Amino acid sequence: MDYSRTIDRLITRQLRDWDVAGANYAALADAVTRSLSLGESTVTLQFNPERRISSAAAIDKESLARRKCFLCREHQPAKQKAVLWGERYKIQVNPYPIFSRHLTIADLHHAPQRLSGRVGDMLQLANALPDFVVFYNGPQCGASAPDHAHFQAGAKGEMPLPDELGHATTHLLADGDEGFIGFVDMLGRSLFTIETSTQRAAERYALRLLELLPVPAGAEEPMVNALCWWDTTDRLWHLVVFPRCKHRPACYGEGEGHLLLSPGAVDMGGLWAVPEFEDFNALSPELILALYGELCMSRENLAPVITSFTQHWEDLAPI
Ligand SMILES: [Zn+2]
Repeated sequence: MDYSRTIDRLITRQLRDWDVAGANYAALADAVTRSLSLGESTVTLQFNPERRISSAAAIDKESLARRKCFLCREHQPAKQKAVLWGERYKIQVNPYPIFSRHLTIADLHHAPQRLSGRVGDMLQLANALPDFVVFYNGPQCGASAPDHAHFQAGAKGEMPLPDELGHATTHLLADGDEGFIGFVDMLGRSLFTIETSTQRAAERYALRLLELLPVPAGAEEPMVNALCWWDTTDRLWHLVVFPRCKHRPACYGEGEGHLLLSPGAVDMGGLWAVPEFEDFNALSPELILALYGELCMSRENLAPVITSFTQHWEDLAPI
């Protein structure tokens, strides 16, 4: 079911009735931006001081246990409203936006952030929100609420990567009647791209990929960011998975020589919300490339996954 009209109403009312959201979306509309050209890709920098709340968030276990979870209903401001989606999720306006329309889709209950049991939800959500790109940040690579399962969604057309992907050189890993999964190396951003005509095919490729990617010691799932959108023209699902090896760069921090950046799915998608003006000015194409290289798993490190995917795909039961 298409939720577009319901979501339009939610956004209009929240920006009108909730002062925090109204002020932050107005500020975003006037935000200073800058484009960096990296060969065939573009990175958009957005000076966004309100994102400090996310970039500087303490996400260690002790800090999480101490803070009041901002996705749980009992800790949310009375003015923050929600639209229920299915039986498990609520859709809300994100009060600290990166996109002109920015949603948070959270589980109704306080449950850990995991992708493997929720890939189908992500695909259905993309279908229900055809004007948005739905995204996921793993608990150790970008989620500022790693203890409360959630997706986010941003207006289509504001993150460069989805529109660039069609021109990228794709190394095909598995291909079937219902779609394919491929590997792409976009300037040090290693990613897996899934494009299918059915939800089940996308889900099957994605779950196999999550099984194959390495799980860091002490973690519950591979470190990944993901983007998902529904192409209304071609009626195809797109799911992009970025395997990560690191959350924050070595230069993370404040002051000279440091960057206050906690890159997640949106940054991987080529839109960097930068809370410090010095950092906004300091970021260059070379620095962005170095950051992608530092934070993303390399093609070499992913070689076993790529090989294993290709070799064992035939062994799986047909869908
Ligand atoms: Zn919670």
